[in-house]
Amino acid sequence: MIKVDNLFKNYGELEVLKGVSTHIMKGEVVAVIGPSGSGKSTFLRCINRLEEPTLGHIYISGEDIMSSKTDINHMRAKVGMVFQHFNLFPHKTVLENLTLAPMKVKSMKKEDVEEKALILLKKVGLKDKALAYPDQLSGGQKQRIAIARALCMDPEVILFDEPTSALDPEMIREVLDVMRDLAKEGMTMVVVTHEMGFARKVADRVLFMDQGSILEDTTPDELFDGSNHSRAKDFIEKVL
Ligand code: ADP
Ligand code: MG
Repeated sequence: MIKVDNLFKNYGELEVLKGVSTHIMKGEVVAVIGPSGSGKSTFLRCINRLEEPTLGHIYISGEDIMSSKTDINHMRAKVGMVFQHFNLFPHKTVLENLTLAPMKVKSMKKEDVEEKALILLKKVGLKDKALAYPDQLSGGQKQRIAIARALCMDPEVILFDEPTSALDPEMIREVLDVMRDLAKEGMTMVVVTHEMGFARKVADRVLFMDQGSILEDTTPDELFDGSNHSRAKDFIEKVL
């Protein structure tokens, strides 16, 4: 579903991604772990072109997203994103947060999107919050709304950038549960996370990034239970 081929990203003199190559299959859940500043967010942001790659290619369902022929709105409709700080529209209700993009980008009818949005709010356990505003919600609720908003576009893949890092500990579980259910339903997901329990139990593969490169691309079993010594293992021991 996603192929990343020799991706480089520089900010001026700073080389942030140094030739990253990987692929993500349909239905796969891939956890991305690694120290702060290693380029994890930049990697995700290049995949949906929030950042312009310096060099390399990214293909989504065979389509080269850097090609001048690619319609960026069409491409972003296929790739959902969930951010650490939720990024909900503060002056819109929960329902409006969900319906805005499908109406604008996919020209869907308001009644149809609202019906769909209510089903998704029910799925994340927040149907009763449809008319609330984001600042009336807890962090965990906001993040579940952000996930429902991503789903409302019918994405082919959802990218999560540390979705639980800004949450109080008691709210992490409710967000991870929603993500685990999505994974079980076969959603393709790329998840930057420090939640090693999630990476271990839910991910099919784990990528370990350090200083702009993928140093390991392995299964959770191999990474967490294998006897090899590696920088990835040292990192995991520090964060656990
Ligand atoms: P991670 O998500 O793994 O913590 P990031 O991708 O956010 O890493 O950042 C990787 C490096 O790129 C860091 O050194 C960071 O300071 C730098 N960086 C990220 N975004 C920008 C930007 N917009 N301009 C300049 N430097 C940036
Ligand atoms: Mg980051």
